[in-house]
Parts: sequence; C-alpha cells; structure tokens
Amino acid sequence: MTTNQYHPETLSVRAGNEMTDFGENSEALFLNSSFRFNSAAQAAARFGGTEPGNIYSRFTNPTVTMFQNKLAALEGAEQCVATSSGMSAILACVMGLCSAGDHIVASRSIFGTSVQLFSNIMARWGLQVTYVALTNPAEWQAAVTPKTKLFFAETPSNPMTEVGDIRVLADIAHQAGAYLVVDNCFCTPAVQRPLELGADVIIHSATKYIDGQGRCLGGAVLGSKKLMEPVYGFLRTAGVTMSAFNAWVFLKGLETLFIRMEAHAKNALVLATWLEAQPQVARVFYPGLKSHPQHALAMQQQSNGGGIVSFEVKPKAGQTAQEAAWALIDATKLISITANLGDAKSTITHPATTTHSRVSAEARAAAGIQDGLVRIAVGLEHVEDLKADLFLLTQ
Ligand SMILES: *Cc1c(COP(=O)(O)O)cnc(C)c1O
Repeated sequence: MTTNQYHPETLSVRAGNEMTDFGENSEALFLNSSFRFNSAAQAAARFGGTEPGNIYSRFTNPTVTMFQNKLAALEGAEQCVATSSGMSAILACVMGLCSAGDHIVASRSIFGTSVQLFSNIMARWGLQVTYVALTNPAEWQAAVTPKTKLFFAETPSNPMTEVGDIRVLADIAHQAGAYLVVDNCFCTPAVQRPLELGADVIIHSATKYIDGQGRCLGGAVLGSKKLMEPVYGFLRTAGVTMSAFNAWVFLKGLETLFIRMEAHAKNALVLATWLEAQPQVARVFYPGLKSHPQHALAMQQQSNGGGIVSFEVKPKAGQTAQEAAWALIDATKLISITANLGDAKSTITHPATTTHSRVSAEARAAAGIQDGLVRIAVGLEHVEDLKADLFLLTQ
C-alpha cells in the first residue's frame, strides 16, 4: 500500500498489514523463533544478505515487521526499529548513534528513567550529558560542544506538560552537526509528527498510548534508513527485540489510536478546565488550556492538548502539600493509583514520591515539581465520573 495516498486514520487501520494465503482479515501472530530455508544455498543467501527474508525472530519477525511498517507510515518515517520497551528504544538509539566521549544535550524534564540511563549507566561508558531547560533554546545552543551528537527532548514534558519548540531545537541541532531525538510518547503520531517539524529520530514507549489498554511493554525508534541502520544493528546483536506477541497486541492498539487520542484529549480538556475552577486547586498544567505558558506553540505543533493533566492541590489548614495530594489520591474510588499512562483507565499519581522520587529535592524544585502536584493520565471513562471521583477538591 502506498502510504501517501491515504489519510492517517486509514493508515492506522490498514498500513503495514501483510496477509498470508489463509485469508485472515486480522494480522497473524507469528509466534516462532526461527525460520526454515529451502536449501543450504538459501540459508547462505539469507545470512549473506543477498536474499531478503526472515532468519530468526531476534532479527526480524513478520508480526513485528507489520507493527514497524504501520508505525513508520504513521510517523512518516523511512524505517522503524521495534524494541522490547521504551527504555530499550532509548538505549538502542544511543548505542547505535553515539560512541564513548560523545555528548548529548537533553532537556531536564525527560522521563526519570531516561535520566538514570544517561547519567548513571551510559556515563560509565564515557557518554557526557548536559541537561537544559526544554523551553529555553538559548540553553541548548550554549550547551553544544564539538562532541555533541544528539539533542534529546520530550514534549510535552512529564509531569509539568512544558512544550518545547521542535522546529527551533532541530535547527540548533543541525547547525551543531547533531541530530534531534524526540520522545513522542505523550502525543503519538495521532497528535504530533516530529519528523515533519525537523526532528531526525523519534522514540516511543509503545507501552503507553500505542497499546492503549495497559497490557504490553514495547518501544520503537524511527528515522531515516541511514540513521536506523546502526540502531537496528545494535538491536539484532544485543537482542532488545520486541516480542511478536506484543507486536500483535500493538497492531490492534494502533487501529484505534486516532479515535482514542481524540477522546483522551477531549476528556482532558474538560477535566483541566473544571480543575482550574476548583478553589482547592492552585494551578493546572495542560497544553490545551489558554493559561498554559506555551499554549500557542502547543496548538501549532500538536493537533490537541493530549491526555495528561497535572495540577497543584492547595493544602488545608494544618496539612502539608503532600498530605493534601495524598488525601485526594486516596479518596478516589474509580481512578487507578498507578504511575502508568496511556491506558483507557484513568490513572492518578503523585510524581514527587513516585516517578520523580529518585530525583533530588533540589532538582525537583528546579523542575517545578511541588509536593502538592498530582498527575492524571485522563482515560476514556465519562468525564463527569472522573470529576465526581475527585470530590475532595470541591469540599
Ligand atoms: C514510559 C516512558 C518511557 C519508557 O518506556 P517503557 O516502555 O516503560 O520502557 C520513556 N519515555 C516516556 C516519555 C515514557 O512515558
């Protein structure tokens, strides 16, 4: 199927699908580790790369290939490399594109485990990282060194939903001879297409909205064939491959991506607007709100505000901010207390003591993550039921 002939919604349902001669209308799950050759000569040709085809599922698997081709069509990428998780996508990206002594400029507000990977693990292998403010291009520019290989950004950021200007960061990266990597997990290609804005590489945690139902771990790296070649080379050697079963689940998730993302964003905007009106709420962070500092930019580079809303709870007399946030979370009956996001089920978390608890108190304060901050990944329940579940805010 030529991918530029159809609308993105159609691609999410149809692109990448390869059917067998059995006539199945839903993509087949190839749950096998190796593939058989017709002859010794064919085996040699496959291993030698002179004949295309599957060899071993650590390298390629037809179900995983379908997932890769569908996501590549949605992001407008030449190639997608599917991985076992979002973190292994980031690992494969860095291992594929960087060497010891190289330097990365990353936004300070990236996923906490990404910081652990860069600063605690990759640093031991000679990688240098400088953290800067997502929303301040001058800081990115100033951080560039002759060894800078990658710019690594996540927009909107977690949990503060800051929005970085992908076009501007791409220009600065390219002038420095570096590549811009965007973790597009919060938006998915249904909301934001970073390659069209000048980014070179996209990272996904498929675990989140791509699955959409909180079932499987997976990830992906996308970009040009040239950039993906060493990323794939690392993956097939190191074995951080996506399982065929998970790819099969994600293929189904992607079919409903557009309608889900629209529904998440619609609920999130109603909830964020309601939260702003509650006397017990000090501040709401949601790119779809006019009060958001980068609202105009967000509306340019995203098709909606996404599904993540954060807000600061005001403590009552005699209460600390953390006590107020925990009391609100503990009073919920419907919303799941879990740090995951992208699920049809709404989830609620207290970043300061969960996702960002390993970040130092000073770094948390610098990032604006206060003790009263609560993050909701708004799901697909009726929004009135979500408001009712946050009843403590109205008392
Ligand atoms: C969850 C997440 C990751 C890591 O993905 P896993 O699938 O959990 O390994 C990376 N980046 C962002 C923005 C995430 O939310």
